Amino acid sequence: MPDSIVIAIDGTSASGKSTNARRVAKALGYSYVDTGAMYRTLAWHCLQARVDLSDAKAVAAVCRKWRATLRSEQSEVRLYVDGYFPEHEIRTLEVSDAVPHVAAVPKVRDWMKKKQRECIQFGNLVMEGRDIGSNVFPETDYKFYLDASLDERSRRRSADGVDENLAARDQRDSQRASAPLMIPLGAMVVNNSGMTPEQTSEIILTEIRRKQAEAR
Ligand code: C5P
Repeated sequence: MPDSIVIAIDGTSASGKSTNARRVAKALGYSYVDTGAMYRTLAWHCLQARVDLSDAKAVAAVCRKWRATLRSEQSEVRLYVDGYFPEHEIRTLEVSDAVPHVAAVPKVRDWMKKKQRECIQFGNLVMEGRDIGSNVFPETDYKFYLDASLDERSRRRSADGVDENLAARDQRDSQRASAPLMIPLGAMVVNNSGMTPEQTSEIILTEIRRKQAEAR
């Protein structure tokens, strides 16, 4: 495997992972990977195919059979299904509600982990998700865990036009048996309540630069 650097950014829903991971990737010239989008794509695909989401075997079978490929475009790595990336479709409330169910299936997590590790073929990465530092790239020295108060996270989501029960989704993600949401060992925890994305990404970048200088 090439010596690619992976910056792992995990955290709760609407804790600013996407905004900050994109900012950090841009500042470093690394590729950005949104692993939540991959799980959302599978949930959307299952909903389209009318697969019973409570049937773990059926969900795992979809994952085993679908024609999904990784593509890197404009420094972003995405999972395409049958040559299509459902950019808007995966952001609906229906998909947000469905996704923790498919994400709890162990065979789905194995499949996703393999695909996510394959992303290093595209070079250095900033990868965001729930289990990147704890499970997908546990060997990386660059681990961050973002959080913010539930009030603030709910406000951010509403500002995006989505009124969802974030606490319920976080609870499902934290309580599943397979690769649950947790603070990875050795991660820097950034509670960004009341902070701007500029401030949060600066904290992350300063820590990355400090570690990189230390490693030289
Ligand atoms: O980050 P985002 O809100 O798009 O993630 C959607 C859902 O995908 C999460 O609530 C979680 O159920 C699942 N997920 C996961 N592991 C990841 C990324 C996302 O289980 N690494």
